[in-house]
Amino acid sequence: MSQFSLRYAPLNLPLRHTFTISRWSRDVAANVLVELEGDGIIGIGEASPNARYDESQESCMKWLSSFDTSTLKNPFDVETVLQAMERMGPGNYSAKVALEMALYDWIGKKLQVPLYDLWNAPSNVGPQTCFTVGIDKTENLPDRVAEAAAYPVLKIKLGTDRDKEIIKTIRSVTDKPIWIDANEGWKDLDTAKDHIRFLADQNVHMIEQPMPASMKKELAELKAYSPIITMADESFTGRESVEELAACFHGINLKLMKTGSLRRTMQLIHTGRNAGLKIMIGCMIESSLANTAAALISLWCDYADLDGHLLINEDPFKGLAFNESNNVFLPQRPGLGVIPR
Ligand SMILES: [Mg+2]
Repeated sequence: MSQFSLRYAPLNLPLRHTFTISRWSRDVAANVLVELEGDGIIGIGEASPNARYDESQESCMKWLSSFDTSTLKNPFDVETVLQAMERMGPGNYSAKVALEMALYDWIGKKLQVPLYDLWNAPSNVGPQTCFTVGIDKTENLPDRVAEAAAYPVLKIKLGTDRDKEIIKTIRSVTDKPIWIDANEGWKDLDTAKDHIRFLADQNVHMIEQPMPASMKKELAELKAYSPIITMADESFTGRESVEELAACFHGINLKLMKTGSLRRTMQLIHTGRNAGLKIMIGCMIESSLANTAAALISLWCDYADLDGHLLINEDPFKGLAFNESNNVFLPQRPGLGVIPR
């Protein structure tokens, strides 16, 4: 069948504002663009390597350079391709999913159908999505909230020594529903409980990763205590026991860059639902390319946090979009439906 050529290059995405979470600050997302060409058709994918998972732009491109394109001799047999990637060893999940994304995009373009049709999605409209406000100086927060005027749900990054001050400041300018992401920032059970008690009166609907992933016993206790649903993010890369996670959280935040595969993520949605978990799809800081792939997965999810492309200055791509209630929807174009802007 087809002979494929694989190309990749750095995709450096300057951010609108320095973005700060409990672990780091950054001004540029150092991503990687992947192109897979066969039969005159180009499938595209994007990796957003994450230092928390020992990945960088360099390590991502190094992995891509080691991929043997003869593996793609039947490009429609994605399961076999995935198994070949898995045999290349653990890690490099952002590189793996970028390649699989390009392959699915190629398949959709080759068949001239949008992937949501090929996968029999219930529709091309997904859940309502949030807009993320990073950690910032207290005096800047009202401006950050004003910039998010178009978005009905805010996701606020916490995990500082002034979390209550941050929430009080935000609550002084808006009463929109809030999701919290503590990014493992509350280091002991008492601190976590104290914050959750405070947040329960603040129209907060969900808390992502309140405590470090290593604190399983405390997280399980916190799940039983919390009136607000807790979601696993750093606790779940896609390879942990879903049953064990269900003891510690009410839901899981799936991210393609962590699971390393669209197909495996779809399988995890079914496993998670069977374990009684709510399902959220999230993103890293990435362009509309990777985020459209996440939007495709969102069609089967309860919650979506797909604002990564809104945090960058000049998005090189056009793909996912939002309707008047900020539900994400996918473009009616073949493959992922992503085009250059
Ligand atoms: Mg998170």
